Amino acid sequence: MISLVIPIYNEEPIIDELLYRSLTTLKEIGRPFEIIIVDDGSEDNSLQKLLDHRKNDARIKVVELSRNFGHQAAFTAGLKRSQGEHTVMMDGDLQDSPELIKEMYEKMKSGSFDIVNGYRKSRTEKGFRGLMFFFFHRIFAIITRQKKVVENIGNFSMLNRASLNALLQMKEKTRYLPGLRIYVGYKQGFLDYEREDRKEGKPKMRFRHLMKLATDAIFSFSRLPIFICFYLGLLGIMITMVIGLFMIFSDSGTKLITDYKPMLVGLFFLGSVQLAFIGIVGEYVFKGYKESQNRPMYFVRNEYLD
Ligand code: UDP
Ligand code: MG
Repeated sequence: MISLVIPIYNEEPIIDELLYRSLTTLKEIGRPFEIIIVDDGSEDNSLQKLLDHRKNDARIKVVELSRNFGHQAAFTAGLKRSQGEHTVMMDGDLQDSPELIKEMYEKMKSGSFDIVNGYRKSRTEKGFRGLMFFFFHRIFAIITRQKKVVENIGNFSMLNRASLNALLQMKEKTRYLPGLRIYVGYKQGFLDYEREDRKEGKPKMRFRHLMKLATDAIFSFSRLPIFICFYLGLLGIMITMVIGLFMIFSDSGTKLITDYKPMLVGLFFLGSVQLAFIGIVGEYVFKGYKESQNRPMYFVRNEYLD
């Protein structure tokens, strides 16, 4: 069986086309399938619309979360319920064309891959948003040392049972699934594709969501922020030692001490550096605290599965 998992948050105008195209593709593949749609606390009529579709085809399964938990949590809820030998993760805004599932499946079979990642040849996000995406993916690629790989993958992917089980074994609450998917290893394949523009409406991930996703990804996959603090600290110590020696042993150095202005600037500078670094440490403490609270990632209000 193939399971298609889609998170939905206020996508009412897109749902008809989304389901039509997904059903057509899955039927063409000719294997038994299920479509698991997770309604992530939509405030429009998305849920009702999904349930209407379900009346016509019970292979459409709906999980209703108790409120909006964010799309990584929604994906997780869907992935947990997947019963297929193969599971597809796909956004619900038609930026990833459902028709590509067929190619993914073929690639999976022909290369005996465990995971096939959609590999974006180009990004459609433009302007400031596009710039932020670019920087995030650059940084993330550097810290995970996966240069070409991580830079161009998102959620769109297919996993077999073994790799999905591995993915689901990772219980952390702050999660960046595309990163975790590479992290589990297994035999990874990549399917080149062009990312479409979102069919309708504005992106549901507001800027602050993206910032959160980006910090989650960077902080949970690397010690880079800590290293930066540590090595900048070391560098500072060395520089001050050199300046200190210079002041003690050289006459022109002694004169420097008489002027208090550079010292004030230095003082403020170091104070600010420390504040910024306490912020970084705080982020780790906060993340540790969040994980230790061990709250469920989401609550399910209703599920329509059989
Ligand atoms: N989504 C969700 N919960 C949210 C935000 C988004 O389930 O809180 C869904 C959304 O309906 C879409 C997918 O996640 O199907 C990707 O969202 P979006 O297009 O806003 O993300 P982007 O393309 O900016 O990564
Ligand atoms: Mg989108």
